[in-house]
Amino acid sequence: MKKIITGLLAAALITMISGAAMAENCNFIASKGSDKYHKPDCATVQKIKAENKLCYKYAEEAISDEFTSCGACKPAEHTKVVASKGSDKYHLPECSIVKNIKPENLQTFDSPEEAVKAGSTTPCGVCKPPKPVEKKEKTEKAEKPTKTEKKKDSKKSK
Ligand SMILES: [Zn+2]
Ligand SMILES: [Zn+2]
Repeated sequence: MKKIITGLLAAALITMISGAAMAENCNFIASKGSDKYHKPDCATVQKIKAENKLCYKYAEEAISDEFTSCGACKPAEHTKVVASKGSDKYHLPECSIVKNIKPENLQTFDSPEEAVKAGSTTPCGVCKPPKPVEKKEKTEKAEKPTKTEKKKDSKKSK
């Protein structure tokens, strides 16, 4: 019966490991109701309630959701990707396929947008790199008349 117990232990271990892996995907954290995203170790993140926390693996995903980078912790805004010359796929640098690309064919891009511009338009299915930021065009029909609000802090403290 020891085998069964060992099996159960292994299953529990796997669950723990995959749980940890999921947490590692939280490279960027944003808060519902805020317009900023942060590095996980930013002081602001500690103040975000668990139920409001949004987890992003890539900066591109946070930006696509209309979050902007925090000025305090300065999280990355782009994910570097690589592609082989003439290939329509782009990868994360750590992808196993990348190791098979000849160094002379290897191209590095600062962001998925750059890779797409260069003709590598498809994210690899193995390493699943982020997609280019989808710039949501603001087609707000019922646009509020923007009154130029004076943001002057008239401090009357003497
Ligand atoms: Zn921050
Ligand atoms: Zn890949």
